[in-house]
Amino acid sequence: METFQTKSPRGTIALGRRLASRLGRGDCVGLVGDLGAGKTVLVRGLAAGLGVGDDRLISSPTFVLVQEYPGSVPVYHIDLYRLADGAGELVDLGLAEMLADGVVLIEWADRAGEALPGNHWRIEIAITGRRTREFRLTPPSRDPSGALDRGGALP
Ligand code: ADP
Ligand code: MG
Repeated sequence: METFQTKSPRGTIALGRRLASRLGRGDCVGLVGDLGAGKTVLVRGLAAGLGVGDDRLISSPTFVLVQEYPGSVPVYHIDLYRLADGAGELVDLGLAEMLADGVVLIEWADRAGEALPGNHWRIEIAITGRRTREFRLTPPSRDPSGALDRGGALP
């Protein structure tokens, strides 16, 4: 597990940009944290780092369950907040197809149950002050690069 601290939304965007360099097609990031923790802010940074243009404002998908943004790979943003059955929804939304195609960023991932892929990245966000946040990152356990799932060779 890795830990990061930020002192402003701008710092969280920068963190997301940096972490995005470790992501590629087939990766899934599960974001966990209270309302206002900064999940959506981090998603903005991750998306920016994945080449999604600044002109595309990333807000929480309120009326649609998934938002797709074109970047260096397609970026899918899902928010399970309002969903009673997060796991069922993820399957219905076509999570497998999204992963075959791009990067999937899921807010309220703790509501996804067993539907998250086994190799997902988990980021827990804690509110530590008015402007400070702590991020605990757990990379995929089997293969941090995701290369196996993208058809890479074993070392
Ligand atoms: P969530 O998606 O987790 O509900 P948001 O990302 O929508 O939360 O909102 C986070 C809120 O916290 C924003 O209003 C943002 O301005 C504020 N904030 C304050 N400090 C930070 C920080 N260090 N990182 C991210 N957001 C912060
Ligand atoms: Mg949000």
